[in-house]
Amino acid sequence: MLDDRLPHHPVSTTQQSFADLGLSPDILESIKAVGFEHPTPIQAAVIPAALEKRDLIALAQTGSGKTAAFVIPLVEKLRHGGGVRALIVSPTREIALQTQAFIELFGKNHDLTAACLIGGVKMKPQLDALRAKPDIIVATPGRLLDHIERKTVKVDAVEELVLDEADHMLDLGFLPQVRKIVARLPRDRRTMMFSATMGGAIEDLARTLVRDPIRIDITPKGRTAVGIQHRLYIVSPENKRPALIALLHQELGTTLVFARRKVDAEWLYHILERQGHPVTRIHSDRSQGRRVEALDDFRAGSHRILVATDIAGRGIDVPGIEHVINFDIPESVDDYVHRAGRTARADREGIVSTIATWENLMMVREIEKSIGQELPRCTVPGVEPWVEGKREAAKVRRRL
Ligand code: AMP
Repeated sequence: MLDDRLPHHPVSTTQQSFADLGLSPDILESIKAVGFEHPTPIQAAVIPAALEKRDLIALAQTGSGKTAAFVIPLVEKLRHGGGVRALIVSPTREIALQTQAFIELFGKNHDLTAACLIGGVKMKPQLDALRAKPDIIVATPGRLLDHIERKTVKVDAVEELVLDEADHMLDLGFLPQVRKIVARLPRDRRTMMFSATMGGAIEDLARTLVRDPIRIDITPKGRTAVGIQHRLYIVSPENKRPALIALLHQELGTTLVFARRKVDAEWLYHILERQGHPVTRIHSDRSQGRRVEALDDFRAGSHRILVATDIAGRGIDVPGIEHVINFDIPESVDDYVHRAGRTARADREGIVSTIATWENLMMVREIEKSIGQELPRCTVPGVEPWVEGKREAAKVRRRL
């Protein structure tokens, strides 16, 4: 039985045992108490490598078990006392809070404590947590830098740095803060970097941060999960909203709706609420408390529909989402993959419906190229489909 403080996702695990990975009885006991029986592939690959104390770069998706993959070797190594010796930088508040919960559960037998420094909440509780001399800090970049600059946190004893979801962190524009934070850390430390994608800016960052790293890549060959049914609804711009409403009536399961901008997420939420749908929303203009509340309501099932923007939506760790609807087409193929990854977790099945207009057809082709299949063109009752004709194709080509 998994501990209630962790999200309950069915994950694919290996046949290996945690005991084979070189962990001590203390930590094996806490893993057992949490309820993990076998390591996931990323855990089986990362934990032994991380125990060797070498720098490490791992390609891993959210939902692969990556959080425990870095938390377990950290808590294996550390004992309580002696100041902040490990720092985990997370892209979002939700991911940071979840990581803190992992540390407290797995690090219980070493009496380890973690402070979580995230934006959008009051300073006072964080200052209290820092005064209690935590062993590990989990933080989002902005708030952490704020604390470092006010000298409310000391990072000169940090031996272990983890950059979680590095690609996501760069997407959110955190690169300058990350560089400033790293500049304050001792050079003689170990760095572990996790990212769902590699290349370009991530590789550049990696070159400056890690030394002679072990590289771990266990990303599955197809870039989206096997159990996903992709569907594409091409409509005229004024029919996007009717298409969404019709889809919400057609598929009655737990549904996550992605809008590109905060204002659109807010606007969609109000329309759906007025129509009587059990809906909540999450975006970065909402306070931390409201975001946590919205996620809890969605997770508990009191709201069947959650409207989210990409930034807020990436950290969503809710099992059993049956339907992801892209009300706005994602801005990049990576965003499509991330959004789609919220459904069909582990061996479950899910639907990803994308509502698009002819102006989005170039992005549709990009997505199709990346996932290696054509998105099936679908229609929904009461909404006239837009037929992909020669004129539209010519317009698209002209834009190229
Ligand atoms: P993450 O990729 O870290 O977000 O983890 C995804 C989910 O998998 C979380 O709900 C974890 O609680 C769960 N999980 C991670 N590792 C295991 C494991 N070895 N056995 C069972 N569940 C796990």
